[in-house]
Amino acid sequence: MSGLFVASFLRQIGWDVDVFERSPVELVGRGAGITTHPELLEALEKSGAGTRDLGITVERRITLDREGRVIGERHLPQILTSWDRLQRLLRETIDPAHYHLGHTFERVEQDGDGVRVHFSEGRVEDADLLVGGDGIRSGVRAQIAPEVQPIYSGYYIWRGAPNEADLEPQTLAEIFPYFTFFLPERQQVIGYPISGFNNDLRPGHRRYNFIWYRVGDAQKLKSMCVDEHGHQHDYSVPPPLIRRDLIAQIRAEAETIMPPVFRDVLRKIGRPFFTPIYDFSAPRIVYGRVVLVGDAGSSSRPHMGFGVAKAGGDAQALADALRERSDIDAALAQYDTVRQPVGECIMMHGRKLGTHLGVDLKTEEDRRMWKLLQSYEAMMDWIAVPNFLAAYNVR
Ligand SMILES: Cc1cc2nc3c(=O)[nH]c(=O)nc-3n(C[C@H](O)[C@H](O)[C@H](O)COP(=O)(O)OP(=O)(O)OC[C@H]3O[C@@H](n4cnc5c(N)ncnc54)[C@H](O)[C@@H]3O)c2cc1C
Repeated sequence: MSGLFVASFLRQIGWDVDVFERSPVELVGRGAGITTHPELLEALEKSGAGTRDLGITVERRITLDREGRVIGERHLPQILTSWDRLQRLLRETIDPAHYHLGHTFERVEQDGDGVRVHFSEGRVEDADLLVGGDGIRSGVRAQIAPEVQPIYSGYYIWRGAPNEADLEPQTLAEIFPYFTFFLPERQQVIGYPISGFNNDLRPGHRRYNFIWYRVGDAQKLKSMCVDEHGHQHDYSVPPPLIRRDLIAQIRAEAETIMPPVFRDVLRKIGRPFFTPIYDFSAPRIVYGRVVLVGDAGSSSRPHMGFGVAKAGGDAQALADALRERSDIDAALAQYDTVRQPVGECIMMHGRKLGTHLGVDLKTEEDRRMWKLLQSYEAMMDWIAVPNFLAAYNVR
């Protein structure tokens, strides 16, 4: 996503940009839901991607108790979209001749005036600038700043997105139209509607995005990262390889923990999968003529649902700096000065919200936040709400 944003913003200011994507096939089918923010909508509009058929607007947030009764609500209109929809809109801004699938970044050399980039498949490219938008496990960052490593938060989420058509009438009536919370001790269950296959927004054809936060230390995560065939993975397990015994275990636990509507949602997910939560912020996001954007430069815990908005903001700031200054190196220094603190601030905010789960509370401030977030009212006011950055005076 950040690579596509960068390409569209830099082309607007007259740069020739090529996007190299590791995947040999078009990236589709990542069913994840994405909450939107004003900053994301602005970046989509300005990049030329637009916000056509972006998603589903929910009007309200609700919190349920164990029996499924609504114990709190908030009026908070918000558009919920999906990774697929955003990728499609952004992908359409790029001339296919400048989008190259099946190219894996391998290494970069630089001489002060430009870069030479080597791809594993053999291609070599010379350019003024290399922008690493290759995600939280960035290979570009691994070469230029190997000391910067994502940090495990001490919790992970189980996820899935069942079809609207498979859900029980009670689930459809009581939670499907809303951004819904269920908050057992040291856990969070969050659900909201997203579009169906091929961005289908018609009632009856949509899906329900389900997220269940669970606490587990590094040892527990290591054991979960042994896959169905007994192979140990380093950070996470590709969804089709997640062990069936783990899935059976969470299904059984849900039966005793969750209200009936969320039990229904989980039962209708064919193959739930887990994502361990990591974060980090690189102390610099410019290294000579190599620049980091999006999750490659900093990545936060997903409590704000702001990662794609941050990617769009990075790309905009990079293009603004390069438009305002004819000296490329001065422009990159400006980008670093403006955006590195933003990434760090977002990461720190994510840690604040993560205190709800009660992991590793080190400071008085951590404990104060933890206490505040034990109230479901506070959770509805803090989790994934728009305009949270305004409190920090950064943008
Ligand atoms: C559970 C969860 C929920 C989230 N919810 C939200 C939300 O609600 N709202 C939101 O805005 N954000 C959310 N995010 C964050 C969001 O998904 C990320 O911030 C966003 O995807 C970052 O985009 P990116 O382009 O920087 O990185 P990525 O999306 O990781 O993309 C990196 C790309 O680089 C490619 N690549 C990797 N290595 C190489 C290589 N060596 N050579 C070439 N290509 C390579 C990859 O194939 C990929 O296409 C969530 C994240 C998680 C984990």
